[in-house]
Amino acid sequence: MRILKQLFDNNQDWSERIKSEDPAFFEKLALQQAPEYLWIGCSDSRVPANQLTGLLPGDVFVHRNVANLVMHTDFNCLSVVQYAVEVLKVKHIIICGHYGCGGVKAAMGDAELGLIDNWLASLKDLYQRYRKDLLGIEDEQLREDALCELNVVEQVANLCRTTIVQHAWQRGQELSVHGWVYGIQDGRLHDLDVCVSEQEETPDVYRILQQRILDK
Ligand SMILES: [Zn+2]
Repeated sequence: MRILKQLFDNNQDWSERIKSEDPAFFEKLALQQAPEYLWIGCSDSRVPANQLTGLLPGDVFVHRNVANLVMHTDFNCLSVVQYAVEVLKVKHIIICGHYGCGGVKAAMGDAELGLIDNWLASLKDLYQRYRKDLLGIEDEQLREDALCELNVVEQVANLCRTTIVQHAWQRGQELSVHGWVYGIQDGRLHDLDVCVSEQEETPDVYRILQQRILDK
């Protein structure tokens, strides 16, 4: 008996359903992928990029990690971003956090959780940076929600500062970076309105262009 048979049964049903709607769907998809979107989200099982945006296979390139972090030392994430921007030429990168994020919650606490504490170090730094303001929010849930949102904004800024995104804008490539938060409790996406579409919109200090002038 096949292990995890239910999943294979589900898969067969799913592929047959898709084929009944579009008989050539998988043949077309096998030839190429041309997604317009790169999704950077949390690994949380409740936040699946395709389902909650109604997108089909082939529509969205996906990278997920705990607490949807974009770190300049994370070659996994950067490799995904580079491939998406330079080869697939996605037009939009969506960084999507979610309310009720376990990673965000862990970063606010002082419990020792093991290796994950190292992964969340930058998020702990972010919490410390805004700690005073955050502690001013009495409701614990709202406080966590606020850090979820601050984290998304921080990751949008991190992504915009990468050489990959900076170079794309310098080339004149059409590319927008969006910051969203997903509500697990109602299944709704919230746009944090931090969309960045050109180099001029990123903080001056991070502009490669300026660095190049300084290096002359
Ligand atoms: Zn999460």
